[in-house]
Amino acid sequence: MDLGIAGKRALVCAASKGLGRGCALALAEAGVDLVITARGADALEATAAQARAFGVSVTAVLGDITTEDGRAAALAHGPFDILITNAGGPPAGAWSDHTREDFIRALDANMLTPIALMQACLPHMIGQKWGRVVNITSQSVKAPIAVLGLSNSARTGLTGFVAGTARAVAQHGVCINNLLPGSHDTDRIAQLNGAEAARRGVPVAQVYAENAAEIPAGRIGTAEEFGAMAAFLCSNRAGFIVGQNILLDGGAINATL
Ligand code: NAP
Repeated sequence: MDLGIAGKRALVCAASKGLGRGCALALAEAGVDLVITARGADALEATAAQARAFGVSVTAVLGDITTEDGRAAALAHGPFDILITNAGGPPAGAWSDHTREDFIRALDANMLTPIALMQACLPHMIGQKWGRVVNITSQSVKAPIAVLGLSNSARTGLTGFVAGTARAVAQHGVCINNLLPGSHDTDRIAQLNGAEAARRGVPVAQVYAENAAEIPAGRIGTAEEFGAMAAFLCSNRAGFIVGQNILLDGGAINATL
């Protein structure tokens, strides 16, 4: 399928590894010129080189996207037709562990940063009557994960903002949606599974196997299939998908809707 977005320009945040990288490579394959960000130079350059192999222009911007400086450095390469927001997830912990400062950090990274990026990018998209935004959130928005209270809270706040804003800008050809990962094989999952294995004193392979066994698909997802869905949501074919929360979890959340 021709996604109809060759030649468009995208900002993909936190894109050197994992789900952000999956999105960046899928957009590059669709012919989209990219600005990608991350804090670590080596992985970012490696991803940029891989994306350039699709024949698109790729600018790698080093910085922390959750800071004003990091966002300004990325936005300086705009304007953008497509925005994919992403950042590392907050640390795990029991409900009683989180301090006010922990909440402020989580809200900054996983709620206020995507909101600031949308506020910066939407005026151009509205002006040209075409734009796409995909926010990488989490399955925890639909089904809370007890040890990820910081993530549950911050991402639900973002979801509320998107629900209203997506419907306010849709008349201008701008579609904002959230993509909710379940368990996908990335460094983040390796880190969470490693912590769980250490806590229980079991091999990490056992935690992966238990994880897969709980998913109707019988496996965890890949960054490539996550990226493919993101690219579709950013495509010219997806102009009637507005304000949705699309779950990619292999059927893990047992719900009718
Ligand atoms: P990952 O494999 O750890 O990759 C994170 C990427 O983001 C890396 O490229 C990292 O590069 C970059 N990054 C992190 N913090 C950044 C920052 N402040 N500024 C700029 N770049 C930053 O993580 P992932 O699994 O792809 O997860 C992406 C998001 O989805 C996270 O918020 C995670 O909580 C959420 N999520 C993931 C899953 C899953 O199954 N993987 C499930 C639910 C939710 P640098 O470290 O070099 O900056």
